[in-house]
Amino acid sequence: MRIVEPNVHLKLDDYAAYAHLRADVAALRAAAERVAPLLRGRTIWMINSTAQGGGVAELLPAHVSILCQLGIDTRWVVLETTQTQFFEFTKRLHNLIHAVAAPAPTASERALYEAVNRAEATALAQLIAPSDILLVHDPQPLALGAHLKQERGVHAVWRCHIGVDETTEATRAAWTFLRPYLESYDGAVFSVRDYIPDYLRGKALVIHPSIDPLSHKNRELALHKLTGILSDADLVEPHWPLNAPPFEQRARRLQRDGTFAPATQPEDIGLLARPIVTQVSRWDRLKGFAPLLDAFVRLKTGQHPGVTNPLHRRRLENARLVLAGADPDAIPDDPEGQAVFGELREKYLALPAAQQRDIAIIALPTASRKQNALMVNALQRASDIVVQNSLREGFGLTVSEAMWKRIPVLGSATACGVRLQVRDQTDGRLVGDPEDPEELARTMIEMWEKPSCLEEYGRNGQYRVHDKFLMFAELRQWLDLFRDAAQST
Ligand code: UDP
Repeated sequence: MRIVEPNVHLKLDDYAAYAHLRADVAALRAAAERVAPLLRGRTIWMINSTAQGGGVAELLPAHVSILCQLGIDTRWVVLETTQTQFFEFTKRLHNLIHAVAAPAPTASERALYEAVNRAEATALAQLIAPSDILLVHDPQPLALGAHLKQERGVHAVWRCHIGVDETTEATRAAWTFLRPYLESYDGAVFSVRDYIPDYLRGKALVIHPSIDPLSHKNRELALHKLTGILSDADLVEPHWPLNAPPFEQRARRLQRDGTFAPATQPEDIGLLARPIVTQVSRWDRLKGFAPLLDAFVRLKTGQHPGVTNPLHRRRLENARLVLAGADPDAIPDDPEGQAVFGELREKYLALPAAQQRDIAIIALPTASRKQNALMVNALQRASDIVVQNSLREGFGLTVSEAMWKRIPVLGSATACGVRLQVRDQTDGRLVGDPEDPEELARTMIEMWEKPSCLEEYGRNGQYRVHDKFLMFAELRQWLDLFRDAAQST
């Protein structure tokens, strides 16, 4: 195990300096003043399995840092092992929880899972006191928390960031595997109510994930900053003079011959001028990239006799689709992602040149997390519509990211996390079937019919994220949980 220092430079006062965040910071501080005295002498331990990559590692540093600033001693520990089979197994467990058909865990896998967790529990037991509180994230370190609960008597809560709203043989296998450990826990927290397995009902509560409004992914970008990032990343033709040198690693666009070249080739995508519809996601089949591409081809090639307004028609003619995700060369540990990218590539290469021109498949470099986040931020802000066409979705942070930026979202109602965030015809639109290109194309066309509606969706979306999906709301709920934990022990 490793103790990780959250490398965060933002202070609560930095958030309070923004007019629209001041009241949130004040409410959080007031809540903390009530709870911190109850937690004096106790430490909150956040335990997960990676310091980098993925939504959990993205938000934990900010949470740990802010809780410490509020006077609540909080530390972050990452489970470590050199046994690569451990992570291969937990990745499969993750897929099983997401209802992906895969073999059920075997006895030898349970033995490996327990051995790794036991070794880590033994190391951590030296550091924790019985009055401390454990917050264990996701299945990888779950057994570790159970050991510490049983042996040290700490208050242990499991935070599950994943799930689906259906029960299948796969999900049953995963939840059966996890059950003996969960029985030791004092409580569990899920992102969405529908993800709670039956045997945890009564012991589990819901806290929605949230976004950090000042992170590089979400912070406001002044116009020159936005164009600078797009230029530095090769996402638009450079605008001179450049205030900063180009990023060391820049975005690449899939070309007609199947190779990658700077994203400004064979010509500028038009991010600063054209109506743009964008999806940024991992290359995962469940994210629905392929049907979205098919839908856009329909939008571009269909006759649309119902589109009579010349401005509307013009918008559709000028529109372009951006599909962006991590550079497939940068994800050698994700063969599934590479395969999904490969399928999308084949689909793109089979299109006529005129349609290829209107679709940009973009590989974003990941070597610098900051620059990757800034590129995602700038791409989302340069979009008329952000799509999250997920077939299923744990939560879908990209949705809140776009809504916070006042960008209307086109999402899928079959993805529990997406429909929880987007209210159809209020913050954007939801399609009933993300695998139906016809419905997707029709909905995009409807969205572009009335720009005033898009503006209204954007405004409503930002309001909704402000009230429900910013990290201040989430942290207040955690404070309530810590208060209850302190009062019960
Ligand atoms: N993301 C990113 N760079 C990429 C692709 C995705 O930073 O090249 C981010 C995206 O902005 C979001 C996160 O990865 O913050 C994905 O979280 P989400 O909850 O949408 O889906 P998950 O990947 O957890 O299934």
